[in-house]
Amino acid sequence: MTTKHPIEKNSDLHQEMIAWRHWLHQHPELSFKEDLTSDYIASILESHNIKIHRGLAVTGIVATVHGTKKGDAIGLRADMDALPIQELNEFAHKSTHDGKMHACGHDGHSTMLLGAAVYLKQHNDFAGTVHFIFQPAEEGGAGGEVMVKEGLFDKFPCSAVYGMHNWPGLAEGKFAVHDTHVMAAVETINITITGKGGHAAMPDQIIDPILTGAHVITALQSIVSRTVSPVESAVISITVAEAGFTHNVIPNEMQLTGTLRYFQPEVGQRIKERMHTLVENTCKAMGATGKLWFEEGYPATINSPKHAQICASAVETLVDNNNVLRDMPPSMGAEDFSFILNACEGAYIWIGNGIGSKHTPPLLHDQVAENNKKTTDNQTGSNCMLHNTQYDFNDDVLALGASYWVQLVKNT
Ligand SMILES: [Zn+2]
Ligand SMILES: [Zn+2]
Repeated sequence: MTTKHPIEKNSDLHQEMIAWRHWLHQHPELSFKEDLTSDYIASILESHNIKIHRGLAVTGIVATVHGTKKGDAIGLRADMDALPIQELNEFAHKSTHDGKMHACGHDGHSTMLLGAAVYLKQHNDFAGTVHFIFQPAEEGGAGGEVMVKEGLFDKFPCSAVYGMHNWPGLAEGKFAVHDTHVMAAVETINITITGKGGHAAMPDQIIDPILTGAHVITALQSIVSRTVSPVESAVISITVAEAGFTHNVIPNEMQLTGTLRYFQPEVGQRIKERMHTLVENTCKAMGATGKLWFEEGYPATINSPKHAQICASAVETLVDNNNVLRDMPPSMGAEDFSFILNACEGAYIWIGNGIGSKHTPPLLHDQVAENNKKTTDNQTGSNCMLHNTQYDFNDDVLALGASYWVQLVKNT
């Protein structure tokens, strides 16, 4: 049995949404520089006589539509920014901005929210008010936090706020709704190891920061297995190791960079204390000195169970129950919707972008052309994982995603 959706696949509005999505995909812009994107979204909203507020967090837009019946105000949020990636797709709507790409599907997110705003403006027999939040700078710029700090919820009070991200690897037509934990907290790890450089043939006269660094990396990998409870989740990854200039010189210093992920603040605190102990004392044991510091990233994205249930009920009016996954493990990726959820309760769900390899390997040069051909044939790169050079948002999902937003508004 197929349920009737507010915005049907292949409807006129769906076709229009595909055109918007392709324009956005062709014009990707980086964090806080979403000028063309913001103008484009604003012009579509204004052409439908939807009231907008511009300028929160530089390029942010809040569009407001009132229902004909009395009720609470809620916020629906989409992100607008792209990534500094060179796109390898060859389809007609590929990026026209060199070195920039919508590789996380924020073009699709903005389009689904736009489609819902246009639909609800024309079908306003709902209760309450909807604030459509178009947010800049999700990819590392904490645009969500900036919008909150600049008074998002003072200017536009909401009783609840909702977010949605596309999820490659989750089949088209499926949704994942988490009761609590969705995405992890992230902090950047920085370590400087200082030894004493000199001639590589006279190691007895130097203190080797590279050998020390190797011990530090190994020691750090004992933390998740031996400090964190087996039922908690955490990741420590050292992703950059920089030292040295040439084959016969031991350098003075080694710099390590990495990422720390966890859900519970107390787990993060315990890991960081242990990291300080291991870095400082391992370096000391090797005769070197170690300095460790963290750059705060995004907090964990944690749904309120009550609002997760509201999302699940809205999804269940659109797809069969077995297409609503309630037990999918959370991701150790991070999301700045966490700042918005920390300011106003609500929930954030995943919408399936299509099934494919979750771990698309880096392609050899001659494989790229072949894979591009396949991507063009399929009219979609939804098989690719997020942030991949050949990713593409799945246009077929646009109508379903926008219908979800509409259904959520009707249900709240
Ligand atoms: Zn991303
Ligand atoms: Zn994203």
